[in-house]
Amino acid sequence: MHRLTIADAVKWAVEQLAPSSESAQIDAEVLLLHCIGKARSFIYSWPERQLSEEQQRQFEALVARRAQGTPVAHILGEREFWSLPFIVNDSTLIPRADTEILVETALNLNLDADTQALDLGTGTGAIALALAHERPQWQMTAVDKVTDAVELAKSNRERLKLPQVEILQSDWFSAVSGRKFHLIVSNPPYIAEADEHLDAGDVRFEPRSALTAANDGFADLFFIADHARQYLHQGGYILLEHGYTQGPTVRAELQQLGYQNVATVRDFGSNERCSLGVWLG
Ligand code: GLN
Repeated sequence: MHRLTIADAVKWAVEQLAPSSESAQIDAEVLLLHCIGKARSFIYSWPERQLSEEQQRQFEALVARRAQGTPVAHILGEREFWSLPFIVNDSTLIPRADTEILVETALNLNLDADTQALDLGTGTGAIALALAHERPQWQMTAVDKVTDAVELAKSNRERLKLPQVEILQSDWFSAVSGRKFHLIVSNPPYIAEADEHLDAGDVRFEPRSALTAANDGFADLFFIADHARQYLHQGGYILLEHGYTQGPTVRAELQQLGYQNVATVRDFGSNERCSLGVWLG
C-alpha cells in the first residue's frame, strides 16, 4: 500500500468529493481528523506526516460514504452545536449552525433563574440542551413526536450531563396540557413540501417529517403560534425559527394572534431566521 501523507490524503479526498459536495475541503479535513484522532491544526502543522495503513483504509471508507452523499454528521455520528457535541442519527434533523441564533436570542431575553421553558420538536435536543447548559437553573422541557428522536435527545442529555432537562414524547403540546411556560421555543419543520432543495445534498438523508410542513411550510409554525397562547404565562415569550423568506408572514401571524413586541432576528448569514413575540394575555 502506498501510504499517503496528510496533505496528499486531503488533496485526494477533495478530488473525490468535489463533484458531489459543496463542502469538499472541510468534509475531507473533518473525516481525516476523525481517522487520526487529532484537532484541526494538526493538518497544517504536520502535512508531511504519513497515515498508518489502518488510518488510510478507514479514511478511504469514510470518503467513499461521503461521495455517495451520506452527511458527514451521519458518518461520524456526531455534530457540534453551541460548542457541545451532539449524537446524531437519521431519526431527526442534523443541528444547524443557523439555529444557534435562536439559542442566543433566548438567552438575551433576560429571563428569571427559575424560568420554565419548552422546546417543541427537539430532535437531537440541541436547542433545549444548549439552553440548559447555559441556564442550569431553568426548568427545561423538551418534546418530540418521534420516539427515536426522544431516545436520541435522552442520550444527548446523559452525555452532556444535563439530567434536569425533562424530555417527553409529545405531539406538539399533547403531553404538557394544562402547564404554563415563560418561554416556548421551536425549530419546527418549515420547508414547503415541493421545495426543490429537498432533492439535493444532506437534507435527502433527513426525515421529511423534520423538514417539511403543509401550507407552503407554514402549517406547523402557525399551529404552534396559535396554541402556544394557552401555554404561556402572562409576559411569556414565543420564539420560532423559520425559513429566510418567511419572516414577514410569521410576524404578521404573531401580531394577528395578539402577540406584542413582535420582531425578527437575523442569523450569522444575515438572513431573517427567527421571530419572537411576548404574550400579555
Ligand atoms: N434550515 C433547515 C434547512 O434549510 C430546515 C430546518 C427546518 O425545517 N426546521 O435545511
